Amino acid sequence: MTQNGPRLRFAPSPTGYLHVGGARTALFNWLYARKTGGTFILRIEDTDQARSTEAHTQVILDGLSWLGVTWDEGPYFQGAEGARHRADAMRLLESGRAYRCFCTREELEAQRQSAPAGGDGFRYDRRCHRLDAETVARRVAAGDRFAVRFLMPDEEIAWDDAVHGRISFHGKDLDDLVILRSDGTPIYNLAVVSDDIAMRITHVVRGDDHISNTPKQIALYRALGAPIPVFGHVPMILGPDGKKLSKRHGATAVGDYRDKGILPAAMRNFLALLGWAPGEDREILAEADLIALFSLEAIQKKPAVFDFTKLEWMNGQYLSALPAEALEPEVRRDLDRLGVPAPDRPIGPLIDAVKSRARTVLQIAERVAVRLDPGRAVLEPKGEALIRKMGPAYRTSLGLAVQALEALPATAWDPTAIYEAIKGQAEASGVKLGDAMQPIRVALTGDTVSEPVNELLAVVGRSTALEHLARARDRQD
Ligand code: GLU
Repeated sequence: MTQNGPRLRFAPSPTGYLHVGGARTALFNWLYARKTGGTFILRIEDTDQARSTEAHTQVILDGLSWLGVTWDEGPYFQGAEGARHRADAMRLLESGRAYRCFCTREELEAQRQSAPAGGDGFRYDRRCHRLDAETVARRVAAGDRFAVRFLMPDEEIAWDDAVHGRISFHGKDLDDLVILRSDGTPIYNLAVVSDDIAMRITHVVRGDDHISNTPKQIALYRALGAPIPVFGHVPMILGPDGKKLSKRHGATAVGDYRDKGILPAAMRNFLALLGWAPGEDREILAEADLIALFSLEAIQKKPAVFDFTKLEWMNGQYLSALPAEALEPEVRRDLDRLGVPAPDRPIGPLIDAVKSRARTVLQIAERVAVRLDPGRAVLEPKGEALIRKMGPAYRTSLGLAVQALEALPATAWDPTAIYEAIKGQAEASGVKLGDAMQPIRVALTGDTVSEPVNELLAVVGRSTALEHLARARDRQD
């Protein structure tokens, strides 16, 4: 962080949970700040008092912290800056760049109704701007309520968007927006510009749903005589069906992914690639790579698609690369949530046994729980199919396995010895090794896919394994 480097901000409204789109915007700002030695600022835009809550603010802070998106300044609260917002509005009033509008809500509604095309694209007709100074002074003195309206200049308003390139509007197509309501509270566009100026923001990177606000904000910057930041509008996030990402598609809150067992590093990697590509065919990018490769110019213009399967795949990649110890606290947390009594033995070997086939921490925890107590296994359709297909041979095979494994003393209960024991038994009874292994797997896990059976038996432990195999052998269904 330097004194003179870029200054960026993430400015969420605490009116809901931290949406993955918001988290992605925060991440892009953060990556750019980290890459350029700049400053990343968190500003909570809590001016909508009816909808903003402290609980939502906390969820946003927690979500960002979990993702490792750390802020250098803030959190600042927009709601605390009302005096500055009003002062900026007053400056515009005094310089003639804004005017008092005495029109009431009802009057405005009537104007809208009588406008051509039923008020579509209705723009205020500036009738209050035409009031003479004397009338204005008289009405103010009489205590008439007024809003402050910005006098939109009749000029081109264009900027070189860091993502989209040149974007141009014309002031004559824009309304004289209200910047201060009659109760003295600021309107969003004024509050944002006032704050961004005060915080010396150099780059405004936000969702492209804000593109229509940007010309209004640039006009305000100009009128306030402030330098205009770089704007970059990041594309929307769509669900796999091409519609705007919503709860219909699945979880959209960052916290939900945490609860599902997605690792923060995987989530961060995944979010970074939503609408940005490093220009190489790489998908697994550690934090340092993301920072080194990131650029605003490489953000795509077209909407990004949120692919849940890809997120899980990516998470699986991160899980398999992490040592068991790093995962143990999260796995223990999930075991607790699953109602599994705290294990009385180290769970590192169990995590190691299952993590390369799991895609979330929760899956790891579920599989660890089954290895601690195979009684928890749920018979999956494939497991059931195998039992059906083998018929009586299933229980015969388990019986032979029990015999062979019982002969192994606890001191020799390791993957190599277990493998040899099963192999010997399979050869002696003339069955293929795989056919001897699979019933054991199904009996202990309910499924036909797992770590190698000898490793499975080793982590389950001799007495627990034998007890459950014998029980499966003797079951009379
Ligand atoms: N508070 C605004 C929002 O949540 C963001 C404003 C901005 O980034 O300029 O959409």
